[in-house]
Amino acid sequence: ESQVDASFIASDGDIDASLRPKSLDDFIGQPRVREQLQLVLSGAKMRGGTPDHILLSGPPGLGKTSMAMIIAAELGSALRLTSGPALERAGDLAAMLSNLVEGDVLFIDEIHRIARPAEEMLYLAMEDFRVDVIVGKGPGATSIPLEVAPFTLVGATTRSGALTGPLRDRFGFTAHMDFYEPAELQLILARSARILGVPLGDDAGAEIAGRSRGTPRIANRLLRRVRDYADVRADGVITREIARAALAVYDVDQLGLDRLDRAVLGALVRSFGGGPVGVSTLAVAVGEEPATVEEVCEPFLVRAGMIARTPRGRVATAAAWEQLGLTPPPDLTI
Ligand code: ADP
Repeated sequence: ESQVDASFIASDGDIDASLRPKSLDDFIGQPRVREQLQLVLSGAKMRGGTPDHILLSGPPGLGKTSMAMIIAAELGSALRLTSGPALERAGDLAAMLSNLVEGDVLFIDEIHRIARPAEEMLYLAMEDFRVDVIVGKGPGATSIPLEVAPFTLVGATTRSGALTGPLRDRFGFTAHMDFYEPAELQLILARSARILGVPLGDDAGAEIAGRSRGTPRIANRLLRRVRDYADVRADGVITREIARAALAVYDVDQLGLDRLDRAVLGALVRSFGGGPVGVSTLAVAVGEEPATVEEVCEPFLVRAGMIARTPRGRVATAAAWEQLGLTPPPDLTI
């Protein structure tokens, strides 16, 4: 069985950067988040201070990193990038914080994965713009307070529920990014096609948008794969027929479910009779990390109406059975 997983095809890094929206006006979709952020940023600019710390939460590929870059650009500030897993020792964070210049935006991706000592240092830095650096070991150790220039922390997380209470409380504003509507993805695709100089018909754009899992990163990735197909097997113009044929080659189905989505649905229905089953059991059945199933796969399957979360575990809906070409059990009510 040769399956190509559309969500894990290499990301053509440079192209990705060129497709990022550069300003709040350039950012398509997430109208509430944009309006709220606009107020937070404009308020701070009017008063001449730094805005409150901002938490961006939502599944991967919805534009959290792009939004952090936009926040810095809108403020006219420099952006410093790091991630939770990179801040293993508090010293790493102290070095980062002490190098900040007033007004800088510090972006910490996957902030829920930050190690405990670094997290505790971060509380103080966020609240008092100060860190205590411990020098030496044992009884001779001393704590040296260091000032940190006023900065804005932008944290991104796929699991806001995994953040500790004290950390969450120190953000003045949390933006929840949700999956995009197909019409929004179609606008994103039209913009990307313009930037890449790819002729993309409206109905072809709609076809790709409908199979992008509500996710701009996937939409852009599928556009590049469809472009390859159009260049190699046709005259470079992306029509609906070309888009369909290309997406069939990459095993992207009507709903845009990828290999893992289908594996999870398949296990839930075939191995567990449709559930209820716990998410960790489901993860073992498909050979994946529970976090990946819970943070990447499940949100979309729930949104697509394929999986319901119940107190006793995950349950496949009638739509899931039908998606797999099976007849739902007669007593299934969801
Ligand atoms: P995240 O940090 O949430 O994983 P990114 O900000 O890295 O997501 O976005 C992934 C890609 O999707 C970006 O390179 C960008 O090209 C595209 N993208 C995301 N959101 C938008 C948007 N609202 N409009 C246009 N393109 C977007």
